Amino acid sequence: MESNEYYDLIIIGGACAGLAAGTYAGRRAMKTLIITKDIGGQIATTPSVENYPGIDFITGPDLASSMMEQAVKWGAELVYDEVTKLEKKGEKDFVVTAMQNEYRAKSILLAYGKTPRNLDVPGETQYAGRGVSYCVTCDAPLFKNRTVAVVGGGSSAMEGALILAKVCEKVYLVHRRNEFRGEDVLLEQINSTPNIEKVLSSVSEEVQGDGQVVTGLKVKNIINEESRVLELAGIFVEIGFIVNSALVKDLVELDRLNQVIANNNQETSNPGVFAAGDITDTQFKQAVISASEGAKAALTAYSYINDGKPVGVDWGK
Ligand code: NAP
Repeated sequence: MESNEYYDLIIIGGACAGLAAGTYAGRRAMKTLIITKDIGGQIATTPSVENYPGIDFITGPDLASSMMEQAVKWGAELVYDEVTKLEKKGEKDFVVTAMQNEYRAKSILLAYGKTPRNLDVPGETQYAGRGVSYCVTCDAPLFKNRTVAVVGGGSSAMEGALILAKVCEKVYLVHRRNEFRGEDVLLEQINSTPNIEKVLSSVSEEVQGDGQVVTGLKVKNIINEESRVLELAGIFVEIGFIVNSALVKDLVELDRLNQVIANNNQETSNPGVFAAGDITDTQFKQAVISASEGAKAALTAYSYINDGKPVGVDWGK
């Protein structure tokens, strides 16, 4: 079904970047639509956020829903839908095809982030948020003085193990091969950290629990084919992220990790298409950074749809 509405800005993704953009676009009286599958994305999966400026402690879902309420309060419309196609028909004329509807807009903000790659083993989904985590920075303090495992062999897993080793009693670093793909300097630090035990050439077979929380990770050594259960309280899955690049690969320039290349004003290679948050090539993947990029993207989009009209600032020239 085709929508008759013509939006100034369609935001794809309802997490920190998209919701902050919704607030900023709404406050500029832009007719704004946020299309999203869920609210909060990755932040909604963490039970505690303690590093969002001005907020000492908040749960991820609470932070996400208050951002959502703020965006809606300022006039952004929200629909739960999944975008399947993005087309540029002409200058300031985009068609967004979703499962349930088709929408048109003068500008587009890509803010649907990345999806952590899953282990795809029994128990993983059941215990997600109850011992299985996809974010060391967010959840490390929950496992103070406990035993945990980090799965993965890249820099994220190696860095994660080092962060966790500072707060946890013991950290297993489980990797499917016998050598890491992450940085050598990280490996040197891992080798000199006594409470990290490397579990190499080992694949994860099952996340085990007591019905409520995680109690173990069953791993199999692929050389001797022996399985064992690591008794622990937490499992950090750090095996990379997947960007849904199929949706945007013909629209905007991507980097070698399939991330959308965006400049300091959140502009992509395609005029009228903006990007903010984890989907971009920004170095640090953090809620506050995504939110700030969302704000910048909305202001740049405002200038774009108003033919370069400068966005008022309260300082400078
Ligand atoms: P990555 O480099 O793609 O590594 C993913 C790791 O997960 C690999 O070791 C891979 O194993 C493993 N893996 C993938 N699928 C798996 C599966 N189904 N089961 C078990 N293991 C699986 O991802 P990343 O570590 O998140 O890093 C992403 C990018 O960010 C990289 O370019 C990295 O250099 C960068 N980064 C840099 C820093 C830093 O500079 N300090 C920190 C973090 C990330 P194989 O090795 O066998 O393929």
